[in-house]
Amino acid sequence: MNKINSELHISINTRENLNHITLLYGEPDYPLPEGISNLDIIKENLTEKEYDEYCSSFFPPHTKISNELKRKIELLNMPKELHYYTLGELSNCHFFIKDHLSFYRTGTNLVDFLNTDFSNFDEYFVWFTKFFTSYIKYFEETDIKKLKLDKSYSYNQIETLAKKYYEIIKKEARKVQKIYIEFVEYIFNINNIEQLKKMNNNMRFYIYYTSHFKTLKQYICDFHINGAFNYQIVPNDFNETDEKKLVQFFTEGTHFADVFADISVTSSNVYTILYITLFEFIEENNYIIKKCKNCGKYFITGNPKVNYCNNLFKGTQTCKDIGNQIAQRIKQENDKVYGKYRKIYSKKAMLVKRNPDIEIYKNDYENWKKEAKKFMDDIRNEKKSYDEFDKWLESNKK
Ligand SMILES: [Zn+2]
Repeated sequence: MNKINSELHISINTRENLNHITLLYGEPDYPLPEGISNLDIIKENLTEKEYDEYCSSFFPPHTKISNELKRKIELLNMPKELHYYTLGELSNCHFFIKDHLSFYRTGTNLVDFLNTDFSNFDEYFVWFTKFFTSYIKYFEETDIKKLKLDKSYSYNQIETLAKKYYEIIKKEARKVQKIYIEFVEYIFNINNIEQLKKMNNNMRFYIYYTSHFKTLKQYICDFHINGAFNYQIVPNDFNETDEKKLVQFFTEGTHFADVFADISVTSSNVYTILYITLFEFIEENNYIIKKCKNCGKYFITGNPKVNYCNNLFKGTQTCKDIGNQIAQRIKQENDKVYGKYRKIYSKKAMLVKRNPDIEIYKNDYENWKKEAKKFMDDIRNEKKSYDEFDKWLESNKK
């Protein structure tokens, strides 16, 4: 039962636990000296500052480590655990075909798909290695025959395979990506369409799904529900069916015993799996997908006011850092315009005070005050900008 073929399925359940046959990268058979762990080797070879940066990536907010540091760690002489291949890794390890289970926050794989630039071979290669079983349908028989579970393949072998089918996979991926981007942007009203503001995500999902079903159909309907709708328990190794024992388990058992609803779905089509995760994501309604105003990538957040993602953008700066700098600069510029407004205001008031008999000064002052107030209101309601206000102030100084 170690044959690989196009009938292979990916299965996913409500919490985006992904179970599939995939390519993992690393070195499983290279033992460490006794009493030494990978962490020991890392600690010994990094500076204190680098080690702190490395450790902080394991705790919230999980800041990503710099590429420079990532590369330094990769070059250390220690076994590399099996993992999904990531961008920029060295080609000195092997790929293994493995039956693998991974856990994600719902929507993670969908957002990765939306952000993958398939015209860039390296980015495509990351996606290809993770979901290659979904693309076996394109492989020639001679290539399929070489694929066996738990067997290792050199980096070059997998790269050659990825290159051979690059054009056809890229073409399909970009086509689906275009549709899913449109779908996601519609659901979260990323383009701020006035008409759509009055609706919630479920309504917008329904509208897009229903009105675009003909296009979506070929990608989203190819799935199978495993068993019926059911409840599962945690920890899941308790297989008792006797009522009394079950009651005992939940009342006197371990503290983390819990029951949760579970639907598990399988498909051989990765795009169907992504559609299902989008559905779950909307159904859970805990997070939203936004588009970063700096780098243009999609990201998951619980806060609708956040406009910038947490990814590294330049050196050690994240998009969020850059966003804060932009906000700071805008605030300073606005303060400058507001200062100008206060200055003209007091100048005009003084003119009226010193010349109580000149009617025209008084009228001009009243009109100016009225118009300036309207400008300030419009700025508050985001109908006008400080920039426009500045221009108006300049032409109505006298
Ligand atoms: Zn960003």
